[in-house]
Amino acid sequence: MQILAAIATSPETPFTIEECELAEPGPGEVLVAVHACGICHTDIAAKLRHIPVPLPKVLGHEGAGVVERVGPGVTTLAPGDHVVMTFGSCGVCEHCNDGHPSYCDDFTAINFGGKRDAGEAIRREGATIGAGFFAQSAFATFALASERNAIRIDKDLPLHLMAPLGCGVLTGVGTVLRVLKPSAGTSLVVFGAGAVGLGAVMAAKLAGCTTVIAVDIKEGRLQKALELGATHVIQGGQLDAVAQIMSITGTGAHFSVDTTGVPDVVAQSIACLRKRGSTAQVALSSSKDGYKLAPNIFVGRGLQVRGVVEGDAVPSSLIPQMVAFYRAGLLPLEKIVQTFRFDQINEAMHAIASGEVVKPVLVMKS
Ligand SMILES: [Zn+2]
Ligand SMILES: [Zn+2]
Repeated sequence: MQILAAIATSPETPFTIEECELAEPGPGEVLVAVHACGICHTDIAAKLRHIPVPLPKVLGHEGAGVVERVGPGVTTLAPGDHVVMTFGSCGVCEHCNDGHPSYCDDFTAINFGGKRDAGEAIRREGATIGAGFFAQSAFATFALASERNAIRIDKDLPLHLMAPLGCGVLTGVGTVLRVLKPSAGTSLVVFGAGAVGLGAVMAAKLAGCTTVIAVDIKEGRLQKALELGATHVIQGGQLDAVAQIMSITGTGAHFSVDTTGVPDVVAQSIACLRKRGSTAQVALSSSKDGYKLAPNIFVGRGLQVRGVVEGDAVPSSLIPQMVAFYRAGLLPLEKIVQTFRFDQINEAMHAIASGEVVKPVLVMKS
């Protein structure tokens, strides 16, 4: 069918919205009319070729919309269902079977390589365009997803606010609730107050953390963090964050989350921990540099470091849980989302890259 898709051609050139041909849904797939799609830093990383994704490609991996048609063998979704699209996974490897699909053995092939059993999905003037980004490529008016990564939600929910539940907010909330699992009354520091970091702030508050500290270099984001439940904020560019955290917590934080991938900040997220503290590292770094830490800091303090992909989420359980939080007013997504028309994709990209908007969401259909 004919669709409009935003095509990323090179790091230097803007996205262009063009008419393309999208294949029909194959076995196990659903065709989704995309109503909205959030923009995540991984879209920027792919366009800048910081991650190995061949261009030209249709990016976009926080799509939300309505199922238009289903492919052969699909039993759990039907036309008319509202869905949030999330990352893809194979469903049969050791990690998928164990309930940790973000570590799927096929994660890279499915989410970055666009692996699709039914062959190529998008063509422009007869030539193949890279598709299947995170098993969706949702910077488009229609997208093909699999039954596994399209998660049904209630029809009364606003799709433009639900879109970030597919990746950014899922990562922040999952990292806190599924990986770190802080006890009530503990302290948690978030480095980087973008959509992932603010998701972690909201989750820390939900978990009952009584000291929630956000570190960022942008004043506007620190204000957002305070609105969303942070008890303290630190201007990371101007102050020694570790010294500030020590003075707030006494002996260091129980937990930290780094969402920046900046080597010096990663080091701070470890150095700020108290004995037996735990940190979660969730960002892919584009830096070639390493970082320095005091010798023996891990042994002496008994620290735990966890790398985390996509919040270690099982999307079919975490997305409904986040919807319940949203309905209860505990995950106020409207405070981080700003909508842009689909044809404003380049402005929206600029807005997230510069940090002026936490979570731009493109609206294809309202
Ligand atoms: Zn798998
Ligand atoms: Zn993402």
